[in-house]
Amino acid sequence: MAKFEQGDDSVVVIIGSGAGGGTLANELCQKGIKVVVLEAGARQSTASFINDEWKSFVQLAWLDPRTTSGSWRVAKDFSGLPAWICKTVGGTTTHWAGASLRFQAHEFKARTTYGGIAGTNLADWPLTLAELEPWYAKAEDKMGVTRTHGIPGLPGNNNYKVMHAGAKKLGYQDVHTGNMAINSVPRHGRGRCMQIGFCFQGCKSGAKWSTLYTEIPAAERTGNLDLRPESHVVRIEHDDAGKATGVVYFDKDGKEQRQKARLVCVAGNSIETPRLLLLSASSKFPDGLANSSGQVGRNYMRHMTGSVYAAFKQPVHMYRGTTMAGIIRDEARHDTKRGFAGGYELETLALGIPFMAAFLNPGGWGADFSWWMDHYTHLAGMWLVGEDMPRESNRVTLNKAVKDKYGNAAPNVHFDDHDNDVAMRNHAFAQGEKVYQAAGAIRTFRTPPYPSTHNLGTCRMGASAKDSVCNAFGQTHDVPNLFISDGSQFTTGGAENPTLTIVTLAIRQADHIAKLMSQRAI
Ligand SMILES: Cc1cc2nc3c(=O)[nH]c(=O)nc-3n(C[C@H](O)[C@H](O)[C@H](O)COP(=O)(O)OP(=O)(O)OC[C@H]3O[C@@H](n4cnc5c(N)ncnc54)[C@H](O)[C@@H]3O)c2cc1C
Ligand code: SF4
Repeated sequence: MAKFEQGDDSVVVIIGSGAGGGTLANELCQKGIKVVVLEAGARQSTASFINDEWKSFVQLAWLDPRTTSGSWRVAKDFSGLPAWICKTVGGTTTHWAGASLRFQAHEFKARTTYGGIAGTNLADWPLTLAELEPWYAKAEDKMGVTRTHGIPGLPGNNNYKVMHAGAKKLGYQDVHTGNMAINSVPRHGRGRCMQIGFCFQGCKSGAKWSTLYTEIPAAERTGNLDLRPESHVVRIEHDDAGKATGVVYFDKDGKEQRQKARLVCVAGNSIETPRLLLLSASSKFPDGLANSSGQVGRNYMRHMTGSVYAAFKQPVHMYRGTTMAGIIRDEARHDTKRGFAGGYELETLALGIPFMAAFLNPGGWGADFSWWMDHYTHLAGMWLVGEDMPRESNRVTLNKAVKDKYGNAAPNVHFDDHDNDVAMRNHAFAQGEKVYQAAGAIRTFRTPPYPSTHNLGTCRMGASAKDSVCNAFGQTHDVPNLFISDGSQFTTGGAENPTLTIVTLAIRQADHIAKLMSQRAI
């Protein structure tokens, strides 16, 4: 692994090593560019992952102080945990389930397609599906997404078989074991899925794509990557001309350090990325870096979510096998006859007993709750995930009353569901229940949204510097050598799980950065 001087101002500094940051690092390193990755979390491995839900959560999750406000139920149920995301090398690609779907063409044109829905801040992406298609193909190949590039689908577990049976009886057509970034056959030096069923706890077999054991080691092998785990960035610095010059961070011993940079890419996930820009306010940028539009932190999206569980007479053992290899895509279309704009997916989901007890009905208690827990082995489960509406008032701000261990203001996440989100959720709950009823369920249960796993939109891209933070390449309008390299860039959320698009944008961004660097344009 390379070691670069802290005063070396020729390096690219990337903050965060997850889906966006880890991919960008590898892509740049492969092109011969020197990269320093500063990652707040420690480095784990397939050997150190723990197949135990709470222990794994403590090992991998971001647990620094955060606060919540707004009418969303997460603020009541999990007020200090707005998001379920990671602080570890590999970021949330350690916890993630692997569902990897392309956006649909109309989702890049949400404002044009859905119109000006009151109470939203909808905009079109400065990109089209056609422009992204070749980059999507590269991302799918890199991640080994099933049902692309000739890679076979994963086998269906019992949870999938129950969903499939009900879906077909209801007349759904687009039902399969998903497009998963999980090896169904050995590929790129990693084995196939062993159906262990702990996909959320870091995949011990390494079959599931994670930047931890794919992109990062590949980048290290080039000799161009200096990865510094347990390095928490607290500020991005700039010169009098407004160009980013480097970052200040605390190393694993709690010592303040300064790394110079030719350019800085922020990929801290959609809460820490805007927080860092806001914390980097200066006399030149009093409202935070790259925030002349006032949009940094705004338009926070978390996807419309919810879960449906159903109890059956016969055992299902939903927790065996791949957690999310099962999908119904028929509801992903935009069809306002259902009473809302945009669409949603229904995907298999299984939680272990500890998480089930915590998330089934937070605060739930008594005979009914016990009945569901007693029937755990006989349950099937699915997750509902759809497009939520961007709103200016849904936002990440600095909560100066709460400080982290470095003395910096904690992020507050404010969220109110839009009526469109509520209408979509109610439709999805009803359809999910119908699927299970068609398969013979004796009871069904609607579970409210968990802390956000899909965090998007807080530094959105757009054609105009007036109402967006960055351009179609993630380059901020205000600071040309500062890039947004994670899901914060999303203009809107689409109905699809976002990581494939984050990786796609990172590959495309790396190509653009390399061109700008070779032209000496940055
Ligand atoms: C349980 C679960 C299941 C999921 N399943 C799916 C799925 O099936 N499909 C899908 O598409 N998505 C899924 N996701 C979401 C997916 O994991 C995220 O979309 C993706 O990882 C986001 O990538 P990112 O680069 O934005 O951030 P992350 O992958 O979260 O990486 C951000 C990194 O930045 C680091 N960081 C933050 N701030 C700083 C700082 N100041 N200094 C240094 N480092 C910093 C963090 O420690 C972290 O490692 C799931 C998420 C969870 C939790
Ligand atoms: S089921 Fe497959 S992808 Fe999930 S943890 Fe096990 S081996 Fe990994």
